[in-house]
Amino acid sequence: MAAQREWFEKDYYQILGVAKDAAPKDITKAYRKLARESHPDTHPGDAAAEERFKEVSAAYDVLGDEAKRKEYDEVRALGPMGGGFGGGFNPNAGPGGFGGQTFDFNVGADGLGDVLGQMFGRGRRGGGASAAAGPQRGDDLSANLTLDFADAAHGITTTLHLTSDAQCSTCHGSGAKPGTQPKVCSLCGGRGVIDENQGFFSFSSPCRQCHGTGVIVEEPCPTCRGTGIERRPREVQVRIPAGVADGQRIRLKGRGGPGRNGGPAGDLIVECRVTPHRIFGRDGDNLTVRVPITFAEAALGSTIEVPTLDAGPVKLRLKAGTQSGSRHRVRHKGIQTKRSHGDLIVTVDVQVPTELSDEQRQAVESLAAATTSSPRAGLFDAAGR
Ligand SMILES: [Zn+2]
Ligand SMILES: [Zn+2]
Repeated sequence: MAAQREWFEKDYYQILGVAKDAAPKDITKAYRKLARESHPDTHPGDAAAEERFKEVSAAYDVLGDEAKRKEYDEVRALGPMGGGFGGGFNPNAGPGGFGGQTFDFNVGADGLGDVLGQMFGRGRRGGGASAAAGPQRGDDLSANLTLDFADAAHGITTTLHLTSDAQCSTCHGSGAKPGTQPKVCSLCGGRGVIDENQGFFSFSSPCRQCHGTGVIVEEPCPTCRGTGIERRPREVQVRIPAGVADGQRIRLKGRGGPGRNGGPAGDLIVECRVTPHRIFGRDGDNLTVRVPITFAEAALGSTIEVPTLDAGPVKLRLKAGTQSGSRHRVRHKGIQTKRSHGDLIVTVDVQVPTELSDEQRQAVESLAAATTSSPRAGLFDAAGR
């Protein structure tokens, strides 16, 4: 898969001895048989067998992968001699054989531009041959989302507006100014790689001149400045699960940048900001709330109403002698997620009135007179220090 140009030259179906519409399992079966027959381990020193083994492996590398096979079929159907290439493309010409001819392609006229965009646009982002090889996973994208407290608690489906990289709409990813074409790289002859022989071994390395793309853009596209990539606004519908916390990151699989050459899409990572609520707080999946009560309610016991996030108020029974600052649990009035159903934790605060009516003052004075022991007695030892 070093260069897709090989696809024009080699009939992988023929190499594996299978029909063009062969089922994947038959392709695998044929490959296994041929690979076994030509395996270098069973033919030590046999260069022809080794070559055959490489060829079979290369064929299976493409036909054994559903996405690559589809792309291969498309490229083959297009054909090197097809009108789209203006007859100027001879796959067997080899390096230097192009003689400075340019491809005469018709970007965007009939979908051809997309295929060529994939061929020539590949690897531009990475700028190297590693990026030029095979299907690539799309980029992971990140986005920020500010959520209302209640929306975070309940979960929400919302639309994110992102700006992300996409194939340039002006040049369809070729990177060339409209009306001009990328030229076949003179150094590698459009293969994107250079073969270097070092003794027994032969290496392929990315072409220095075209950085593995196989083409040279002489007049760059003004929109993308020759990169073939354009920043474009995009809308993504996302489902934020119930119970997301402030600062939490949610990874949405496959919602990121589009894959290239049949590769899978990247992920979208959404960092959530949750705005505080006027009265409720969060403790994991529990909701928290502070509720003021009177001294009488605390001392005598009482049934009070407390607010909930989702429904109306619910009743909470306080026993006689309830302490200020004590916490009370209302079951299942917290955040309901897939894994649990939180509670509402009510902290009661005994309020001390700042002003008293005459009647209240008299009542409190009577209470004081009837109070014989000090609540601070325990703070001092027998000597009163
Ligand atoms: Zn462009
Ligand atoms: Zn090159």
